[in-house]
Amino acid sequence: MVMSVLDEGYLGMGRFVESFEKKLSQFFNRDTSCVVNGTAAIQLALQAAGIERNDEVLVPSLTYVASYQAISATGAIPVSCDITKDNLCLDPKQIESRITKKTKAILAVHYAGEAGNIDEILTIAKKYHLRVIEDAAHAFGSSHKGRLVGSFGDIACFSFDGIKNITSGEGGCIVSGDKKIIEKVNELRLLGVLGDSKQRFLGKRSWDFEVNEQGWRYHMSNIMAAIGIEQFNKKEILFKKRQNLAKSYDKLLINSKVDILKKNYNLIVPHIYPIILPKASNRNILRQNLLDCGIETGVHYKPNHLLNLYKKINHNLPITKNLQDRILTLPLHPGLTNKDIEKVVSCLETNL
Ligand SMILES: *Cc1c(COP(=O)(O)O)cnc(C)c1O
Repeated sequence: MVMSVLDEGYLGMGRFVESFEKKLSQFFNRDTSCVVNGTAAIQLALQAAGIERNDEVLVPSLTYVASYQAISATGAIPVSCDITKDNLCLDPKQIESRITKKTKAILAVHYAGEAGNIDEILTIAKKYHLRVIEDAAHAFGSSHKGRLVGSFGDIACFSFDGIKNITSGEGGCIVSGDKKIIEKVNELRLLGVLGDSKQRFLGKRSWDFEVNEQGWRYHMSNIMAAIGIEQFNKKEILFKKRQNLAKSYDKLLINSKVDILKKNYNLIVPHIYPIILPKASNRNILRQNLLDCGIETGVHYKPNHLLNLYKKINHNLPITKNLQDRILTLPLHPGLTNKDIEKVVSCLETNL
């Protein structure tokens, strides 16, 4: 498919992006807009939802810095919130206490693929007239109570970067039931040029056009879309592999000293497999020991409220604080086998 884009000679945004968006729209049964990456998706979703300078956006501190940068890129202030222990997703009880006159939106991060606490979050948002943007970068293909993540709620943002559940090389998309949001994003991704998305899908450009607000050059290219379409067509296989590997970890770790995040992997497609280490363990030494066995681990994430750019506001995040040095991510990608998982767990157990 990438070769056919090259053969056709039009590498920018055109019919392949249109076709990828059609597939995604059918999948979610909602309008979608494809952009260069997941961070851009969140930034444009916030801007399209009317988030402006000095507005406050509630967000869990335990997320990739991309969630925070997307908020601050709009001029808004990320207000760090705590998570619930069971799923490491935004704690609905705490967000209510953090709402001020300036609060305009909640950025709910679907940590490790689970749309945790989303029903409560949507209920609170309704009560206070807030927009809910889902950072669903980890959750492409996951379901929540029988509904596909992205097919319900307000606005959902996905990432298709190289290691996510499906990839387009780099890429992302915004999904919403609110047509105005998608129309707005379609303008914002092409420097704010009105109607340019439609023109590009017709293979044309706009020469005499109008621009009403700050836009960005964030559209997806045909090359990315061609990769995305091929991945999308293989998604069931990719999802199954991730789910089966996570189930294998669960089975092997059920009686371990480490805690696992209990999830139903028939419904959730995990992007990562984090575990919680016992209180006294030294994560750095453990990571080095695992690396000596040839096993690369990750830390998802260093909490954002500890970063220079975001630490100005006073925070009370007891659960994040308790877990920040104990979370450890074990390898999980479709290239692994059950044998690999057994090796990881055996090396982990001997070094705990
Ligand atoms: C990957 C990721 C993003 C950003 O997506 P990119 O495509 O890398 O820009 C945002 N939030 C979370 C939680 C992510 O894991």
